[in-house]
Amino acid sequence: MRRGTFSLRARYVFPVERPPIEDGVVAIDGGRVAWVGPASERQADLDLGDVAVIPGLVNAHTHLELSGLPDDAGRNPRAVENEVAWLSKVMAHRRSVAPESYREAVDRNLAASIAAGTTTVADITTAGLSWDAIAKAPTRAVVFAEVVGLKRHRGLQTNDAAWRWLGSINPEAQVAANARPGLSPHAPYSTAGWLYHNAASSRLPLTTHLAEMPEELQLLETRDGPLRRFLEDLGAWDDEWEPIGSRPSEYIRKGDLRDADWLIAHGTYIDPQDFWQLRPEASTNGHRVAVAFCPRTNARFGHDAHPYRALLERGAIVCLGTDSLASSPSLSVLDEMRFLHARDGSLSGELLLTMATLFGAWALRAETTAGSLRPGKSADLAVVPLPDRDEQDPYLLLLESEEPVAATMFEGDFVTGPWRGV
Ligand SMILES: [Zn+2]
Repeated sequence: MRRGTFSLRARYVFPVERPPIEDGVVAIDGGRVAWVGPASERQADLDLGDVAVIPGLVNAHTHLELSGLPDDAGRNPRAVENEVAWLSKVMAHRRSVAPESYREAVDRNLAASIAAGTTTVADITTAGLSWDAIAKAPTRAVVFAEVVGLKRHRGLQTNDAAWRWLGSINPEAQVAANARPGLSPHAPYSTAGWLYHNAASSRLPLTTHLAEMPEELQLLETRDGPLRRFLEDLGAWDDEWEPIGSRPSEYIRKGDLRDADWLIAHGTYIDPQDFWQLRPEASTNGHRVAVAFCPRTNARFGHDAHPYRALLERGAIVCLGTDSLASSPSLSVLDEMRFLHARDGSLSGELLLTMATLFGAWALRAETTAGSLRPGKSADLAVVPLPDRDEQDPYLLLLESEEPVAATMFEGDFVTGPWRGV
């Protein structure tokens, strides 16, 4: 972490909790934001030029250990794919890959994620596999060990591996490394109810794939349908299996499951009558529920009716994730923002950037440290080159452009890009 005061000037600074500042300056002291305002009020040490400075992005849903599927090279990005058929491909691919290549994928994908401006990440991983790499990297994270299995022996296996990893972590080191552990029961269709209850007993942050596809709703209601056949083909179906409830929302609200922070991955088919439960005010016990929406993955599977707007209008927290390279072409949250903006221009740039930063930080209980450029918060930021034009709405300079993130700063140090070491 850099000592002393240091300031950056940019064509635009987007602090998130206040309007964009044209010709802005961010002053940094001891790795924290010390001051944000117009260049007319403060000299800067380094002029970054025709760029935007935005808070470091929060990727609220990814699996860094997964690589792109072999079939995906040359795939038409507009083609819609059946999600259950895709799951079969992912499972076949996972079985063909040696464990060592998961670690290599984590290293590669973590570097790509940081280079894309992400400074806080929610990563789901097998038995804590990504922890060591993440804990050493210049990033903030919650690392969720996945538990999965409808059959008792499979559930026990993944549960034991996850808890063994939790037991191996040094709590002092976690704080220093800005990484916290969590657990991720994979999804209602793949994960026995006891694994959900067991995860909730950990008092750790939790995430789960929930209300992701119509086939999941069908399975919970009828114990039948394409997902059952998928599980039977895998040898993973359990005839004794009973869902926690017939609606996905029961997986985060029933009994002791309420007593945890839940980050819902996707949530595309959450019943509108359950929306009210997702508002922060609806939580009577201080636990948080947020939805991580992955726009490009959602589109890949033809789930184009994500209720993000209705959820946001009812006060729920919706943040953004890339999901893994097995379903998404990159790990760039900025790419997700631009994709969503192109599909839904009526979503304001201000709200979209808030979803990609502050809302994700809130979901991971990092909002007092990260998620906006406010004095006292960590100087985690991304630098995005801007197109050579003017816009009435400066957010369009960020969103209607293909310029990738040029540099990422974590705790006051440039960790990627041309100003590294400056
Ligand atoms: Zn996922």
